[in-house]
Amino acid sequence: MNVALHLLRSARRLPGQPAVIERDRVEHTYDALARRVLALAGALQSRLGVAPGERVGLLMRNCAAYVELLYACWAAGATAIPINVKLHPKEVAFILDDAQARVCFVTDDVAAGEVDAARAGGATTFIDVDGAEYGALLHAAPVPLAEVTPDDVAWLFYTSGTTGRPKGVMLTHRNLLAMTLNYLADVDAAAPGEHLLHAAPMSHGSGLYILPNVAAGATQLVPASRGFDVAEIDEILALVPRVKCFAAPTMVMRLVDGIKGDARGLKHIVYGGGPMYVADCLRALDRLGPRLTQIYGQGESPMTITVLPAAEHIDDHDGRRLQRLASVGRAQTGVQLAVLGEDDQPLACGEIGEVCVRGDVVMRGYLNNPEATAKTLANGWLHTGDLGHLDEQGYLTLVDRSKDLIISGGSNIYPREVEEVLLRHPAVREAAVIGLPDADWGEIAVAVVVAYAPPPPEAELDALCLQHIARFKRPKRYVFVDELPKNAAGKVLKRELRQRLLG
Ligand code: AMP
Repeated sequence: MNVALHLLRSARRLPGQPAVIERDRVEHTYDALARRVLALAGALQSRLGVAPGERVGLLMRNCAAYVELLYACWAAGATAIPINVKLHPKEVAFILDDAQARVCFVTDDVAAGEVDAARAGGATTFIDVDGAEYGALLHAAPVPLAEVTPDDVAWLFYTSGTTGRPKGVMLTHRNLLAMTLNYLADVDAAAPGEHLLHAAPMSHGSGLYILPNVAAGATQLVPASRGFDVAEIDEILALVPRVKCFAAPTMVMRLVDGIKGDARGLKHIVYGGGPMYVADCLRALDRLGPRLTQIYGQGESPMTITVLPAAEHIDDHDGRRLQRLASVGRAQTGVQLAVLGEDDQPLACGEIGEVCVRGDVVMRGYLNNPEATAKTLANGWLHTGDLGHLDEQGYLTLVDRSKDLIISGGSNIYPREVEEVLLRHPAVREAAVIGLPDADWGEIAVAVVVAYAPPPPEAELDALCLQHIARFKRPKRYVFVDELPKNAAGKVLKRELRQRLLG
């Protein structure tokens, strides 16, 4: 089944319902959106010569055209490559070359010339979605939905590269359908009249959530800032009913610190993509009310491994609320989850191993990279590279990515555990714990801290650690910085931090 069918169904069921709103600029009903999509699909095929299976770049800031171009690619049987606009032109050039994309849609704020100059070979046609050429494409003759197989690639998702060169994750129509069903079953029973606010990049999680919300007939809402602006979100919450959004934990915390009005217009925030520390989560629940749902996923199993529903953030009937908040919840309905040892055999509850996943949501593989595909999909499991443990009730707690584990004097230190403790100090805003080489210990734990002014005395942080974790896990050094290096998706780049401190 072609995932674009959901759009046509919603257009038949709810033709006059707003499908996409770009604040202060554009508003399309479902009927209008479906017409635009089928015309654009026709233009892709007949005017731009995009054949079924060909890959089309979307190097765009959040905008209404994002929604129609995703669906137009699928309607034409093509593969969309959403690319984060914050990437360096060289990284974008790498992606366009790797995917052999001849056509790439851009917003007017993207320096397409710079990207083209960085490309190794071949030329891409860049089309500005705010320009006249794009307007003309909308007048092409519409085409019927292309026939696709479940294994045809719909979305080529480039990993955010926290641990190396980006890899093109091939997400098929089957994968996206599975993601859609899991979302509607476990994360959010979406409905017409609700607004999915795209404050996070549509090239990643926020964009993936377009699909279930189109299937359900909800409205996509693109802020005028086209990104994350706390004051604007405050304003939107006062004006627009039933708003929901996907946000990285750091965004949630900026909202908690920044919004002035109440959060009653908020249906919920789905957060994930990085660790949410318990101290932060409690503060967020205090400010926003029971409106937080956590998901854990990765590009290779998009947005869909576990879920911690809003109610389970509050429930303390068994006195285990804080443990639940430290977890990422339980497997989503269509996901088989296991924590495996080095021999790929399941470990007992409480033992730490690699988080592995099976199900229709798991990617087909990496484009042009059979070695990485074979390694990651070995023995029928997706190996996530995340370390964690399960409890008897099926709650998964992540400890860290295997590459971030610190081994000091032969003992394992999981940075996340130390970061959780440091964040309890009221003067600590962000913390990242990394391992650095040491002649005596092999590695030592170093805490890199962003503090609210003034920074806390190291002795206080040390005392806090002694109070909560084993002595050997205490950071042996503290470094105070103004900000942590993050990638385009907002994840802390521990590799870069390590290099900086070594250099
Ligand atoms: P990406 O493929 O860029 O979306 O990155 C996925 C990675 O982000 C996962 O493999 C985890 O390491 C991390 N991640 C995602 N969701 C969570 C979460 N809820 N808590 C902690 N880490 C997460």
